[in-house]
Amino acid sequence: MPPVNKSNKLSNVCYDIRGPVLQRARQMEEDGQRIIKLNIGNPMPFGFNAPEEIVQDVIRNMDQASGYTDSKGLFSARKAIMHYTQQKNIEGVSIDDIIIGNGVSELIVMAMQGLLNNGDQVLVPMPDYPLWTAAVNLAGGSARHYVCDEQSGWLPDLADIENKINANTKGIVIINPNNPTGALYPKEILEGIIEIARHHGLVIFADEIYDKVLYDGNTHTSIASLADDVLFVTFNGLSKNYRACGYRSGWMIISGDKKEAKDYIEGLNMLASMRLCANVPGQLAIQTALGGYQSINDLVAPGGRLCKQRDLAYDMLTAMPGVTCVKPQAAMYLFPRLDSEMYPIVDDQQFILDLLLEERVLLVQGTGFNWKAPDHFRVVFLPNVDDLTEAMVRIGRYLESYRKK
Ligand code: PLP
Repeated sequence: MPPVNKSNKLSNVCYDIRGPVLQRARQMEEDGQRIIKLNIGNPMPFGFNAPEEIVQDVIRNMDQASGYTDSKGLFSARKAIMHYTQQKNIEGVSIDDIIIGNGVSELIVMAMQGLLNNGDQVLVPMPDYPLWTAAVNLAGGSARHYVCDEQSGWLPDLADIENKINANTKGIVIINPNNPTGALYPKEILEGIIEIARHHGLVIFADEIYDKVLYDGNTHTSIASLADDVLFVTFNGLSKNYRACGYRSGWMIISGDKKEAKDYIEGLNMLASMRLCANVPGQLAIQTALGGYQSINDLVAPGGRLCKQRDLAYDMLTAMPGVTCVKPQAAMYLFPRLDSEMYPIVDDQQFILDLLLEERVLLVQGTGFNWKAPDHFRVVFLPNVDDLTEAMVRIGRYLESYRKK
């Protein structure tokens, strides 16, 4: 048999969060070593369970889950999502404008497959959640990275966005609240992005999957609530706000200037039909989740578990020589910077691998988020205070030995 190769479509596709360092960590675990994992935003293994009422509701309704639903999703779930969009002041959304998917991940891929022709470009933040870059490239497009500026708290640099637009640019992605930086965008930045999209006829893709994971009394504004003359596709789901990643339940909402986008919307509907429907148990959880007690608020409040862990990780990291970090306003990640004179890193994947081998702590290197310089890494602050403290001690020790080399 001749060699079986992956398709050319995958040649520009990369997803380092689950890359070679993770494979190594798995091997080490198989060999009986205990690793502290600060690499993936999956709350459940750290004792953040999905709200009990969701779990019970899914179990109770399981007998209704064995058939396909409408390709766009269960009516009751989409109705609950429609009410949620009203709470977020996104106007003019009907049940028909909502598509439920197997997590936001599936819908991101679908949204890009439905829009892009070969050579089209989409503006994606840098650093990014790398699925966006991968999905653009898989669809035959190319991701152009615009800078989020660390000096200004990781806010998108509007001038850089403007500079990177050309005749092939079709859309702009914003991740707000942001993974990996924890930034939360103020209204003025969102309005600036809308103005650019309006002027250049771009679709705005808004990934808002962390919109309830907010610290310090912050509130979240959905960019789609700020205009009706631009096309918005807004993404959200149960994975983070409801700690239910494994339910694979997410949705996308099409709003704004829909009349100019009939053809694209027809394409999205066709892609949704081709995979018949999203996993039904996950869909069954949506109505209960959105309408029930919002226990995430207790976790992010001062003294709440997530808030405490954020503060601890932030304080310990920024006390290390040569480490600076913008304090996250939202989400569950820190994206610290290493001073390049103290830490002249050439290959940050190797740097993270050495940390794993020496100290059994697993992180993801900054270049895994399409950050160009090898001077950042991402920390997930989901482990409990004891494990997080231990991880920080080990990172501190590793950095100290690196400085002495
Ligand atoms: N978008 C962002 C910004 C994320 O951080 C993640 C997961 O970490 C996803 C999307 C994927 O979410 P889902 O579990 O709904 O596929």
